[in-house]
Amino acid sequence: MSPSLPRVLTDELLDREFMAQVEPDWRKLLSCLQCGTCSASCPTAELMDYSPRQLWELIRLGLRDEVMNSRTFWLCTQCYACTARCPRGIMTNETMRRLREWAVANGYSVPQSLLMMRQAVNYNHNILNEDNKTRLIWSEGIEMPPERVQEPADILLFTGCVSALYPMAYSIPQSLVQIFEQAHVGYSLLGSEEWCCGYPLYSAGMKDEMVKLAQHNVERVRAAGPKILVTTCSSCYYTWHHLYPEILGETLGFEVLHASELLSRMIQEGTIRLTETPWRVTYHDPCDLGRKSGLFDPPREIIRSIPGMHLEEMPRSRENAMCCGGGGDVAMTEPEAVEHVSVERLQEALSTNPEAIISSCQQCKRTLLQAARKTRTRIRVLDVCELVWQVMEK
Ligand code: SF4
Ligand code: SF4
Ligand code: SF4
Repeated sequence: MSPSLPRVLTDELLDREFMAQVEPDWRKLLSCLQCGTCSASCPTAELMDYSPRQLWELIRLGLRDEVMNSRTFWLCTQCYACTARCPRGIMTNETMRRLREWAVANGYSVPQSLLMMRQAVNYNHNILNEDNKTRLIWSEGIEMPPERVQEPADILLFTGCVSALYPMAYSIPQSLVQIFEQAHVGYSLLGSEEWCCGYPLYSAGMKDEMVKLAQHNVERVRAAGPKILVTTCSSCYYTWHHLYPEILGETLGFEVLHASELLSRMIQEGTIRLTETPWRVTYHDPCDLGRKSGLFDPPREIIRSIPGMHLEEMPRSRENAMCCGGGGDVAMTEPEAVEHVSVERLQEALSTNPEAIISSCQQCKRTLLQAARKTRTRIRVLDVCELVWQVMEK
């Protein structure tokens, strides 16, 4: 911290308006012990100009411009590790996100890539600015009856932008629909009527602009009338399960499941049968699915139910899992930071000597695969849907 900055917290220095914006229970920020647990937990802290701990102190000292001109909060991957460990219960990841909201609302500098993403989502309803009519491009090359689109069925698959539009992730929804076809399970899709869930806007500090996306998606799903909405994306899951009911102020009227929950259920019921596969694998917990949603077990149940498969946990797993770097829109704003984090996570995964790294999120798969390419590492990175499709009795 600069030596010219005031160091003693007095009542006059308190910037209550600013503190209330970044932490609704702003008195909690005053209780910060400056213990540094948040900074020590943070995957990108060493790249920040102020560590999370230092940023809270600047906020308490009322140094608004110093805070807002920092790049610290743009480097937050929203991994929730700091919040989960803060001894004072301060929602530190939420404070980072609210600082972005303040930047957007008050004319501070916002990364150009986020402004372009906002335009793409608002105009074309997906993060890649593609014509949303191409949203089923991932399904080309597999046999999927066309009547699956917008037809009533008990299960509706919400594909998500990454799986729908990034070729590296196409095989995740392809695997899931092939599992459904093979197991004679009815399902439907929204096709071009599926819009981005809005999570990238939420992360970027543009929560208000997410409302119309939530309204559109929920209305279309209700019209299709499924009992279950399933998603392979852990961020889409977090959005549908936690954010939509909060934003819309109502229950959705159908169950929201992550694909790992549904597949685990189908395996237990005997709808899916698995073949002997003597692999040694490790599992990477996506932050939105694990630490933020508490779904640690379903993917592990799937892996353990495969005859002959051995799961070797990483030193940091479950609640303590390290982020892969792929969240919080950081891949759009600071790709070199994502690379830095993902290479560290990849090395940790490789320390377990796996034949494959399994995860439950298309963004984690992309991020870890990019780290493998960067380090010229030959390793399979598979989503649980791809794993189940590969080892399913056909
Ligand atoms: S972990 Fe909590 S109490 Fe400790 S420095 Fe961070 S915000 Fe403050
Ligand atoms: S949410 Fe994760 S990336 Fe963001 S400040 Fe906390 S530990 Fe760091
Ligand atoms: S959270 Fe889901 S729908 Fe939203 S951008 Fe990511 S993959 Fe797309």
